[in-house]
Amino acid sequence: MEGEALTEVNLDTSWMVQGRCRDLPPEIFFPSDGVGVEVARRYCAECPVKAPCLEYALENHIEHGVWGGASERERRRIARSRKSIPVRSAGAPVPNGAAEPRPAAPTPSKLPVRH
Ligand code: SF4
Repeated sequence: MEGEALTEVNLDTSWMVQGRCRDLPPEIFFPSDGVGVEVARRYCAECPVKAPCLEYALENHIEHGVWGGASERERRRIARSRKSIPVRSAGAPVPNGAAEPRPAAPTPSKLPVRH
């Protein structure tokens, strides 16, 4: 649509089957206070897919819940810091702040269900 920006979407959910939260009540990861956030983060701290979980939440702009051990506030802070430092895919800074072309997004079938 005219005037509407296309958003890249990460639909790779293969890591979810390894998540520690897979067999836990989802409410744990959608806490309503700081104590709840700490409980969720403890589970995430020992999770083998912490990194892809966090990336998934960041790339898909998921606002709610604890993902990859990061609260909503922490993910907003990470996202802001990433916007201020242009990077290449290997993590090296882009000279002169030039934007790197983005790879094509996979064809979406449906949004994955929270694990
Ligand atoms: S890091 Fe992600 S997959 Fe692992 S327990 Fe936490 S929310 Fe679940």
